[in-house]
Amino acid sequence: MTTAFFSHDDCQKHNMGPEHPESPTRLAAIISYIADTELEEKLDWVRPDEITRDQLTTVHPEGYLHQLDIMQPTRGRVFTDPDTAMMPHTLRAARLAAGANVQAVDMVLSSQVTNAFVCARPPGHHAERSKSMGFCFYNNIALAAMRALKFHHLERVAIVDFDVHQGNGTVDVVQGDGRVLMCSSFQHPFYPHSHVHRQAENIINTPIAAGTSASDYRKKVEAAWLHALQDFRPQLVLVSAGFDGHRRDPLAELNLESEDYLWLTEMLTSVAHDHAGDRLISTLEGGYHLQALAEGVAAHLEGLTAV
Ligand SMILES: [Zn+2]
Repeated sequence: MTTAFFSHDDCQKHNMGPEHPESPTRLAAIISYIADTELEEKLDWVRPDEITRDQLTTVHPEGYLHQLDIMQPTRGRVFTDPDTAMMPHTLRAARLAAGANVQAVDMVLSSQVTNAFVCARPPGHHAERSKSMGFCFYNNIALAAMRALKFHHLERVAIVDFDVHQGNGTVDVVQGDGRVLMCSSFQHPFYPHSHVHRQAENIINTPIAAGTSASDYRKKVEAAWLHALQDFRPQLVLVSAGFDGHRRDPLAELNLESEDYLWLTEMLTSVAHDHAGDRLISTLEGGYHLQALAEGVAAHLEGLTAV
């Protein structure tokens, strides 16, 4: 069995400006790094199709989708929040990134591949049901969860988010939904400063102080997540994989290294192995130091392809 690797050239056409950290070069850096490793031959490369409107409405109201449609400019850029810009290629890229997540669910649940990594952008975990923010428009991982729950009729899906920023958008979508267990580690206090204190039973927030060592991060995450995930017995494991907790990342102050991303991946593949028949889908969120991002993704893929 194999690991699917989803990517599409049009995801690199979305460009929020030369100084913006969420840049097309992130995908280029990952893909060129992988091309020089043995990973390239182990991966099943897939070009995704765009997500459909009906699939988008499993998470986002039609009014919000329409608002984005009419905001997208035919030239130049329009900001939807101080950090997030739309330009003529934005929604095409967003539909491909979201479509890749849905397609990955279909492929993994039909046993065409063992697991999958979606190497696409824009990212998704800050996008709330009716609000784009934090470089995100459609919530990719929530759309994957809804595909698994509503179309494939799974009963228990775990979402694990190890991006350095809390996935406020995903919390907004899944809080209170007992079919989903969300485990989320993030630097705190830090952006996005919302949804951190929500007390929904299905959300496990694991705040991490700036400057925390990698070994302390591992201890906190393992203590907070592992038994909870094992008790939940997910039929599918979804991962919001952000690599901005890396020591070299310019946007945050945690101290993770590539080996920590391999450790995280092995913990999650072991949960998927024990309960979900190895079924796991991971999607790219943040990560803004290009070399650290590429190395972190490669370590993550090393763990996924070892299953
Ligand atoms: Zn982030």
